[in-house]
Amino acid sequence: MAKIIGNAILADPFGTFLERGYLVAEGGRIERVGEGPAPEIPGAEYIDAEGRLLTPGLVSAHGHLYSTLARGMPLSGFTPKSFREILEGLWWKLDRALTSDDVYISALVGGIWHLRRGVTAIFDHHASPSAIEGSLSQIKRAVVGKLGMRCDLCYEVTDRGGEAERDLGIAENVRFAQEDTESGLAAAHFGLHASFTLSDESLEKSVSAAEPLGLAFHTHLAEGKEDPIDSLQKYGMRTAERLDKFGILTEGTLLIHGIQLSGAELELLSQRPASVIHNPRSNMNNAVGAAQVVTMLSRGIKVGIGTDGFGADILGEMLVARLLAHHVAGDSTVLSDAELLRILGHNYELAERSFEIPFGKLAPGYAADLVIWDYRPPTPLDGGNLLSHLLFAGISEGLSPDTVMVAGEVLLSGGKLTRVDEEGALAKAREAAEALWKRI
Ligand SMILES: [Zn+2]
Repeated sequence: MAKIIGNAILADPFGTFLERGYLVAEGGRIERVGEGPAPEIPGAEYIDAEGRLLTPGLVSAHGHLYSTLARGMPLSGFTPKSFREILEGLWWKLDRALTSDDVYISALVGGIWHLRRGVTAIFDHHASPSAIEGSLSQIKRAVVGKLGMRCDLCYEVTDRGGEAERDLGIAENVRFAQEDTESGLAAAHFGLHASFTLSDESLEKSVSAAEPLGLAFHTHLAEGKEDPIDSLQKYGMRTAERLDKFGILTEGTLLIHGIQLSGAELELLSQRPASVIHNPRSNMNNAVGAAQVVTMLSRGIKVGIGTDGFGADILGEMLVARLLAHHVAGDSTVLSDAELLRILGHNYELAERSFEIPFGKLAPGYAADLVIWDYRPPTPLDGGNLLSHLLFAGISEGLSPDTVMVAGEVLLSGGKLTRVDEEGALAKAREAAEALWKRI
């Protein structure tokens, strides 16, 4: 059934702007947009935006839905001195304690958070070493099946749990990639944890498993100093060089963080089609440094943005990316609107590659992944200043969606989820978290 959104301010990051207009969606895509009153279409559902702002949905290019149940977890005596100690003392304990049911409820509640921040497509990087087989299908059941959102999933292959667990991780990536993609809502990458937890043999096995399926990789890269030190000591080369040796820096591959990189590695990345995904708030929280995003962009490296599981707020990440760049450079002009829009636009390109439909514009043929923000601008909004409105409404008025649509289906309406009993999901999550914390 066609849907008509009328009485809206239409704007997208690529310059589309209609001060008062309408949009018609049908078959999961935008069918047309126009100025003035909405047309009458027999049988169509009409949504009145009441003069509020309509934009494309957002994409998060990296996160960890499995981390949802960590909020408020007691961490007595946890005083990590390094990035590795953060992993060992927190995340590697948490993920090992997750059951298959925990994976589902984590993904459900984490998915709701994304929806409530206007994110309609999630690239997730998953680990649950005690429940590997079927774990990606559990996430898909929650995010795609239950919530109706889009997600691109992978399982992180790592040596930290021994060879048997590593092989189960490889098998889970392969199994999931061959599963039904649910009409363009689900997609797959091949997950790797990071160079410093993967032997040459493990990388070889992973590449051999991914190649026949045409899968790109989703891996952390040079997040902490551990990664380049390990690679230099064991293999005599830097981290990006090591991944390149295995043919991992391919089109669609997501290289997460890319902080501890040399000039030669940046040069290498500028010659490869893989993308670097920036997660500034997580990086600041883990005290691992700042990726050289401005340099990367100036060298033509593709840069996207994610949350790394540190919340679900992509607009907030964009603003913090700018603040961090200013702070590091001592220059309040770096990471301009044009550069931030390139980053946002790359997230849409990645979603387009995974879900095989154009994203990010309010134009015919594009995905009907849409957000009506609960926002009436206090200052003039036009085709050139949407970004500024979104970023600053986020920090001053707590900008949030009234309505979210994915592939033409309304998933959030009047701030309420249409498919899921949110109270019930939160109660189940609290119960699961209490039991999980006791096991850790
Ligand atoms: Zn991550």
